[in-house]
Amino acid sequence: MSQSKPTYRSTRSSDTNENISFESAIMKGLAKDGGLFIPSFIPTISSEDLQKWSKLSFQELAFEIMKLYISEEDIPSDKLSEIISRSYSTFRSEKVTPLVKDLESNIHVLELFHGPTYAFKDVALQFVGNLFEYFLNKHNSANPSDVKKLTIVGATSGDTGSAAIYGLRGKENIRVFILYPNGRISSIQEEQMTTIQDKNVQTLSVTGTFDNCQDIVKEIFGDEEFNRKYNLGAVNSINWARILAQITYYFYSYFQITNQTPGAKVKFVVPSGNFGDILAGYFAAKMGMPVEKLVIATNENDILDRFLKSENGEYARSNDVKATLSPAMDILISSNFERLLWFLAYEQLAGKDSDKAGEILNNWFKDLKTTGKFEAGSSVVKAASELFDSESVQDLEILQTIAKVYQNSQNPTKYIVDPHTAVGMKATYNQVAKDGKAAGFQYICLSTAHPAKFADAVNKSLESFEGYSFDKDVLPEELRKLASLPKKLKFVSRADIKLVKEAIDEEIVVMEQ
Ligand SMILES: *Cc1c(COP(=O)(O)O)cnc(C)c1O
Repeated sequence: MSQSKPTYRSTRSSDTNENISFESAIMKGLAKDGGLFIPSFIPTISSEDLQKWSKLSFQELAFEIMKLYISEEDIPSDKLSEIISRSYSTFRSEKVTPLVKDLESNIHVLELFHGPTYAFKDVALQFVGNLFEYFLNKHNSANPSDVKKLTIVGATSGDTGSAAIYGLRGKENIRVFILYPNGRISSIQEEQMTTIQDKNVQTLSVTGTFDNCQDIVKEIFGDEEFNRKYNLGAVNSINWARILAQITYYFYSYFQITNQTPGAKVKFVVPSGNFGDILAGYFAAKMGMPVEKLVIATNENDILDRFLKSENGEYARSNDVKATLSPAMDILISSNFERLLWFLAYEQLAGKDSDKAGEILNNWFKDLKTTGKFEAGSSVVKAASELFDSESVQDLEILQTIAKVYQNSQNPTKYIVDPHTAVGMKATYNQVAKDGKAAGFQYICLSTAHPAKFADAVNKSLESFEGYSFDKDVLPEELRKLASLPKKLKFVSRADIKLVKEAIDEEIVVMEQ
């Protein structure tokens, strides 16, 4: 039996809230009322489907999952299948996200870093780039007199920028501008962005900090005239398509364990910042993938860990972001957590009334803005704890864990993890210690970046081991070569919105030639 497809609504309630199509949710990104888009219901699968899905390739599985969320009017099946296959043809692994089974006896590592930028964000952004292009072309061929172009403007402290650039390079009717703070990102990250020569991509190296860059981008989005002129768009972690694309690897890795050990009890451990990665695990579980626990692994920026351990579901931002060895997880609040909160409020507090859930979220996020915190209540945190657990990991533990994994790994030996994955591995070790062997759990720790991207932490942790060599053991040839490639970048001498707008104006003229 085929189910109907969800429409999309905001996590908040307002007069403008309405159910919109998948296409609109993707192209808008963020709802007008400041909320995030969620599906009107979560499609479920039967145990027969689960059985059938267990034999599928990554791409086939992605297709079956996405088809449940995307109507034929949004994207016809044959097109969707083609977009999926194109999106993952850029990955270096045939399995796209291979599972390293039995790295240590019941610990498995799900490698999400085989895409073009060697970080997990590629799994979503390779797909999102193709979706943007598809929807623009669809609009433009239906409206030849109203050709739409999209101008993506973003700021990056490292990883998101390169994943966005690799997702959007060479795409028709899309221009990309990425601002980064000059001299304040790692050389590999800078090389990854600036060695892209595609005409539609321009990096802007700004004299200033990451916060300066981010403020300028926010200001630019608030500039209505500029926005209208260029049709601005964003590729941050709140786009629903990113969550959707990430559901696939939860099912895919789950099947690799359960095909070998039927009925295995699986815990996923996920290095988390904005809660986008692990939220996809929540959707997989709600769709019908049996899972024991989803473990949120945070660094010292631990708002999620504090929420889950609180009595009353207190969600409270701290005053400052801590700069840690796992910078992609350095956040004050986790933007995608709002989506989970909506579902919890809907089930626990709103009597399954969508608008009422939206009103509850409105009030919470108003409080968060004005007082820096809110209380979701004990029923919400209790419901969250049925599926989620959490661990918070300190910088020193990150260094110790990189060394411990190197020493303990069995298959392969001397396995090297990056500092973000180390947060996940430390959380995994904590869970194993709490659960005990008798519990019989299988642990899948998600690996979110290749260790070569975070040379400093990896070297600091491993340089005392005899025979260890970064060049030989860590750095892939493809990344080594970047240093010698020509760079395309434009310097902006001051963190000033006027200078950035001028640079964009100038470069768009060049792009249009
Ligand atoms: C973005 C990122 C994360 C955090 O993922 P969220 O979806 O924000 O929770 C973890 N590790 C790396 C390397 C990342 O780039």
